[in-house]
Amino acid sequence: MVDLQSQYAKIKDVVDSSIEEVLSSSTYINGPLVHQFQADLENYLDVKHVIPCANGTDALQIAMMGLGLEQGDEVITADFTFAATVEVIALLKLTPVLVDVEADTYNIDIDALKKAITPKTKAIVPVHLFGQVANMEAVLEIAKEHNLYVIEDNAQAIAADYTFANGTKQKAGTIGHVGTTSFFPSKNLGCYGDGGAIFTNDDDLAHTLRGIVNHGMYTRYYHDVVGVNSRLDSIQAGVLKAKLPHLDSYCEARRNAARFYNNAFANNPNIITPTTKSCGAICDTCNCHVFHQYTLQITNGKRDALHKHLLENDIPNAIYYPVPLHAQKAYADERYNENDFTVTNKLIETVISLPMHTELEKDQLEFITQTILDFV
Ligand SMILES: *Cc1c(COP(=O)(O)O)cnc(C)c1O
Repeated sequence: MVDLQSQYAKIKDVVDSSIEEVLSSSTYINGPLVHQFQADLENYLDVKHVIPCANGTDALQIAMMGLGLEQGDEVITADFTFAATVEVIALLKLTPVLVDVEADTYNIDIDALKKAITPKTKAIVPVHLFGQVANMEAVLEIAKEHNLYVIEDNAQAIAADYTFANGTKQKAGTIGHVGTTSFFPSKNLGCYGDGGAIFTNDDDLAHTLRGIVNHGMYTRYYHDVVGVNSRLDSIQAGVLKAKLPHLDSYCEARRNAARFYNNAFANNPNIITPTTKSCGAICDTCNCHVFHQYTLQITNGKRDALHKHLLENDIPNAIYYPVPLHAQKAYADERYNENDFTVTNKLIETVISLPMHTELEKDQLEFITQTILDFV
């Protein structure tokens, strides 16, 4: 699904010297590279505070701890996402409330979100799924009206631009009260291990979060709040610092591959290509969709057969996600009604994600698309 080897070959010198710098200085934890990467990312995202941490799941958990959410508080998020989002809500003994997604963008459905709000609701977690930002304008409006926190799960959409109705653009993850991301190797900005970060423009919240990631310490050996141990290590920071200057060109490479796929599948009645909402078609000038995944819907019932056929032809592909969260054993709840999840329930049967990365060659794209068209 990704080709990290070819990507590494192109930046090997810079990455290797970053790693050597850490090894020769022995600053494995909290070294200068962590602070440099943090500053570079703040600059790139145009956000006041980046708080690095150990992974994207921790980032979500720490964000919720920092906002002071308490047992019994309801947190609304999308039914169609990776489990990490709902996992941390449950882990903190908050009450997850899953809602359906939009049929075209696969992001949180605004009417379903409105319907799910109760006096106990404290926060909304929009997930920018597959690289496209959720309808943040509507989410912010609802949050304001009901006095709710907005925590953006931006693990899949770093570098994506969101365009407001008045034309202003803002980077995904910097729009709500707090945003989180993951630097897992296959994410759009990936390191060579685990990594994550939290973003906020709120000075007080940033201070709180910096303490929480470090055992609740604001002064050494004085623990003011219950914290965790969650760090981005210096070697990963070095890798990320080396890759960040390439992020825009990585997005462009993904966009180009997506454009090739879109064109190839445009006239097939059994295939629905991804919708790009913010700028309409795939934009030439901004990252309105960063295509963490390129996900088709196969509408003639042949999705599972296609999945098998592609594997037989050595074409990697994946079903993200095969089971909706409301139907997972760990998160099932009597309150849920199947009729409230018609879109997710349909998507799990029709979606299929194709290889999507920065190194896709034209002959690979031609082989993939032709194999699919011949079969579907
Ligand atoms: C990858 C991912 C996470 C978790 O990130 P990790 O770094 O693997 O902990 C959370 N949410 C979403 C939507 C993700 O895709």
